[in-house]
Amino acid sequence: MSAPDPSLLSINTATVRAQWPLPDTIAALARHGIRGISPWRDQVAAAGLDDTARRIRDAGLTVTGLCRGGMFPAPDREGRRAAHDDNRRAVDEALTLGAQCLVLVVGGLPKDRGGQIVSRDLAGAREMVRDGLGSLYEYAHGAGMPLAIEPLHPMYAADRACVNTMAQANALCDELAPDGTDGLGLAVDVYHVWWDPLLRAEIIRAGERNRLFAYHICDWLVPTRDLLNDRGMMGDGVIDLPLIRGWMDAAGYRGMHEVEIFSAQDWWKRDGDEVLLTCRRRHAEAS
Ligand code: ZN
Repeated sequence: MSAPDPSLLSINTATVRAQWPLPDTIAALARHGIRGISPWRDQVAAAGLDDTARRIRDAGLTVTGLCRGGMFPAPDREGRRAAHDDNRRAVDEALTLGAQCLVLVVGGLPKDRGGQIVSRDLAGAREMVRDGLGSLYEYAHGAGMPLAIEPLHPMYAADRACVNTMAQANALCDELAPDGTDGLGLAVDVYHVWWDPLLRAEIIRAGERNRLFAYHICDWLVPTRDLLNDRGMMGDGVIDLPLIRGWMDAAGYRGMHEVEIFSAQDWWKRDGDEVLLTCRRRHAEAS
């Protein structure tokens, strides 16, 4: 694999969220000549939606995704209604920001208002995901906002997402958008799917239906000290990133490469400019 085009680098703002509030991150990306951004909704809310949209436009950044919608399962109708309403707001925010897609972390087992899991019915949770997603898709498709289902590593099946493989996400797309429209697709995050023996085949399957909406990169550290907040910088772990990028490329993906690193013990402790410089270098050398 030749080195990736440096202009395809995008930064998920979680990567520097400990260092900078969103307006500072936008300014830093512009300063570093980085062309893409993927912000989180809580940061957007804190900085103001319209103000953030203006700053991103002024900086000339491509919004490779808005993080995130989803979290469909809930123990009662009220909870599912709240998720339904919040997801529609997320679609509207993504439209205001000019995002290429709304990224969906679909949710795991149903939780009560206090965040306690109240059910062991995993199959039932997956049905709630399908129903909630189907309903949201109607709204988002009508509004012109693509939805990107992000399969999460199975270690998150209980508390974050019960869609855990590319095959599962592809099957949901087949069921809910059988014509292969451009409104429902996948966010491929290497942290979650690198281990999957079917990864290449499922990337090709998604590419054939134009469903590859986003590509998130980082690395898998050995050992991983924290399930959520110990992602590695590209090149520091065991994922063959050039190989997977080659599969994405061969499947027709032409979008940006979004660096998404939650790293409480390492990268969040460093100077933000050092993190962005390292992202640029490792994107070129190890992705
Ligand atoms: Zn991701």
